[in-house]
Amino acid sequence: MKAKIHFLGGTGTVTGSKFLLETIKHQLLIDCGLFQGNKSLRLLNRAPLPLDYSKLSAVLITHAHLDHTGYLPVLIKNGYKGPIFMTSPTVALAEIILRDSAKIQMEEADAANRGNYSKHQPALPLYTLHDVEQTLNYILDCGENEWISLAKDVKFRFKRNGHILGSSYLEIDILDKKLVFSGDVGKQESLYLSSPSVPEQADILLLESTYGNKSHPKTSPKDQLQELINKTIQREGDIYIPCFAVGRALEIMLLIDALKKENKIPHIPVVFDSPMGAEAIEATAKFPDWHQLSNMELIDLNKEAYFVRNIEETYSIIDRKKSKIVIAGSGMITGGRILHYLKAGIENNNNLVILPGFQAEGTRGKALLDGEPEIKIMGKYYQVKAEIARLENISGHADQEELLNWIASFRFKPKKVILIHGEKDAGHALAEKINEKFRITVALPNLNDIIEIN
Ligand SMILES: [Zn+2]
Repeated sequence: MKAKIHFLGGTGTVTGSKFLLETIKHQLLIDCGLFQGNKSLRLLNRAPLPLDYSKLSAVLITHAHLDHTGYLPVLIKNGYKGPIFMTSPTVALAEIILRDSAKIQMEEADAANRGNYSKHQPALPLYTLHDVEQTLNYILDCGENEWISLAKDVKFRFKRNGHILGSSYLEIDILDKKLVFSGDVGKQESLYLSSPSVPEQADILLLESTYGNKSHPKTSPKDQLQELINKTIQREGDIYIPCFAVGRALEIMLLIDALKKENKIPHIPVVFDSPMGAEAIEATAKFPDWHQLSNMELIDLNKEAYFVRNIEETYSIIDRKKSKIVIAGSGMITGGRILHYLKAGIENNNNLVILPGFQAEGTRGKALLDGEPEIKIMGKYYQVKAEIARLENISGHADQEELLNWIASFRFKPKKVILIHGEKDAGHALAEKINEKFRITVALPNLNDIIEIN
């Protein structure tokens, strides 16, 4: 055996990314994400990882999103005491995301205990704020492009990939092989990030496939947003935009800001109801080398929106009758403050829900996109009367064509591709295209599969 990869998450789904790279001497974990979406996926977060924590020598994180970092505190709780490497902006964002995640876990356990609706007595959070603080002690930040040696025959570096602030693909030289873990690959054109950089070569490319079966339409998200907002204001409705607080929210705010400056939409209030999102925008200002926004643009964004601080404010905003735009997490409506707004507004046909991001199977966001007549929020069913729209071309992920172009720009074609981070249909469609276009062998692993590298 030379080396092998264990697929511990991020197979057949876009969540729970965890890949264990193992040689006789070393074990590295690449990404350490939470499973999200339907119940069978979420239950996987509670199952023990088939992993000997004492043998794990390092954890490498491609970017801060919860589906890539959210399981880290469980690792530390279970006794892992080694380094967790990530880029500096990822450290800043991961701190925000992990603290928020612990708070949600604790609140949910608390609510379940009070409402007595958990099978576990008492319901316990997956981890607490204390576990997160412990985890932060093990995080080490790395510069972009900087090779870090873990042993004579193992080294790695991060190279930016345009998905969110700090996000990167990983090049890992192990024994005499070069592996590239793509992380989440961004679109060629972003509103505030530079285009993804491209590796020279890879013996094995582990590639995300979120939009492996889709092409982003070429429509302008700004024009679409203008039309949607204006028609909703005309009928005196509210506009709800559930989105990932880190990344997408910033892009939406940039678009709304531009539309107002160009007088293309009325100057109605924009409410940003996500403490985490506000912190993420502050973090963005600290890493000017990692984005293309000027200080002035960031200051304008802060002036543009009203940042909600606590849940009492959320309730009072819900009571205000005048049209408003509400940006709130979570992106797939699996939780977060957006639930309160939808409870109050989803049954009003003047209102509009705009979905800007990927909606995984089993989430409320996917149910709305699929035109389900009702959705369940906090134990109660609500009829979907508000208009539902998908905002096109704003995703943080490359589509099929962009993924294929990314591979085509490698100086030397990768020798083998393993598709990860995508639902089954997306993976199959992309595998077929890669095979057709580049004649490269493509593997599509299942959960807990092991692939040997020779
Ligand atoms: Zn991501």
